[in-house]
Amino acid sequence: MIINVCFHGIGNPQRELEPDEAGYWIEPELYEDVLDRFGSRPDVRLSFDDGNASDLELGLPGLLRRGLTAAFFPLAGRLGRPGSLSAADVDALGRAGMIIGSHGLTHRPWRDLDDHDLDRELIDARELLSDACGRPVNEAALPLGRYDRRVLGRLRTLGYRRVFTSDRAPASAGSWLQPRYSVRSDDTVASLNRELLGPRSLTRRARSRAVTFYKSIRPAPR
Ligand SMILES: [Zn+2]
Repeated sequence: MIINVCFHGIGNPQRELEPDEAGYWIEPELYEDVLDRFGSRPDVRLSFDDGNASDLELGLPGLLRRGLTAAFFPLAGRLGRPGSLSAADVDALGRAGMIIGSHGLTHRPWRDLDDHDLDRELIDARELLSDACGRPVNEAALPLGRYDRRVLGRLRTLGYRRVFTSDRAPASAGSWLQPRYSVRSDDTVASLNRELLGPRSLTRRARSRAVTFYKSIRPAPR
């Protein structure tokens, strides 16, 4: 099994945060500690959502110092805005050996969108990010971790090779749908150690598989 660990913002945000977002901004010390504790484990994969400027200012240097790589999922609609990565920054991440995926355009949950707006998020955002980094973009991270049967079906049809959720469960290495654990501001290395690597009861494992299965097959909300 694989443990996918996801970061959002590190340090001080340089833009106005969305409601409930502050809990996903972590101190630089916690970031460094998490990399030291988990970063070089062969069963741990790292990713960054939202395309905050801290990805390049603090995220990348921490990875490079340790010889680690990660996948970055910027929001295409925020490229070049204050506090967010620019297109050149996304290119720099790609050149540094990082994977560039898509987190869509506007950070609206894809489940809530009609077919036209969903395609803008899945097609237009991917094009913008691909133009920025000069290579194909074929992985996606679901905004706010929300999905259903229609969203996953569209992602498959459009050729996305891997899709990341926020379902807080281990992932099968080769699986198309990859649950992740988001690091939160009140986490510590000890709390993450327990949650990520501690013993998982059969009940807990069955429950997390059931949640992912239910979300994968549930119909669109309307
Ligand atoms: Zn996000």
